[in-house]
Amino acid sequence: MEVAIAVVIQKCVFPVLVNSEANTRRIATVESCFGSSGQPLEVPGRVLVGEGVLTKMCRKKPKTRQFFLFNDILVYGNIVINKKKYNKQHIIPLEEVKLESLEDDNRKLCVSERAFSPPGVAVFRNGWLIRTASKSFAVYAATATEKQEWMAHINKCIEDLLRKSGKKAVEEHAAVWVPDGEAPVCMHCKKSQFTLINRRHHCRKCGAVVCGPCSNKRFLLPNQSSKPLRVCLHCYEALTSAAKNHNLAADGTQKGYRNNADSSGEEDSDDDDETNRGQPESHDLVNIFSLFLIARLAIVSL
Ligand SMILES: [Zn+2]
Ligand SMILES: [Zn+2]
Repeated sequence: MEVAIAVVIQKCVFPVLVNSEANTRRIATVESCFGSSGQPLEVPGRVLVGEGVLTKMCRKKPKTRQFFLFNDILVYGNIVINKKKYNKQHIIPLEEVKLESLEDDNRKLCVSERAFSPPGVAVFRNGWLIRTASKSFAVYAATATEKQEWMAHINKCIEDLLRKSGKKAVEEHAAVWVPDGEAPVCMHCKKSQFTLINRRHHCRKCGAVVCGPCSNKRFLLPNQSSKPLRVCLHCYEALTSAAKNHNLAADGTQKGYRNNADSSGEEDSDDDDETNRGQPESHDLVNIFSLFLIARLAIVSL
């Protein structure tokens, strides 16, 4: 059956759908599911290629997220009510995306990570990285076939976009953050143990989990923020010497920022991990869904 699905999807030639009423209707539905929390998605020439649930590796644990693949953007959000209501919308321009397949990892979730998946289920399989200049993360599909379909379709969209625009693929990508649970001690000094008081920080350059003293420098990473960001001492040295070599005026980036929070407010926050203030996540609801939902790439019906 999944083979049949793949064939059908491949037959969905974009120009056929571009002006179709069905496509417009589908996009309007996605837009309304996000409601006022989302951006307008109806743009001339935009096609909804497919959609489905994927497990996204967030800072603290894997979480189910609804993904929508359009021919020019990848949209994902938090599932509030399945197929009805989503929030925390993220839009990634596909032109900037590079995918990278991940090897299967049969690790089981530890207790603290289980909130969103049935216990004992190995979720780190059928995964790949979605890398962009400003943010990179891992997602996991329910089956190998679904992984292949997602990757093939995303890559096809990227190729088409780059061919049309004549642009080159973005070469520099943000680091994938090492999940908190994978670092009981600082990955830089290898000594500092993390506790409630001794908090974990992420180096914005390499994604490592590091302690405060090992990440007390800031460096300007223009692809990620207009303000200097937290980097580990190792990256700070590398970036500083690279900047000197390139005769760039990198000095001053650490001044005045040393003890300041990032532009993002709560530093090290993973936007997906932040509980929507004033509108708590419905954990029970998400739990129930996660038992039933599999990352199925639904076909956009013509
Ligand atoms: Zn350290
Ligand atoms: Zn680093």
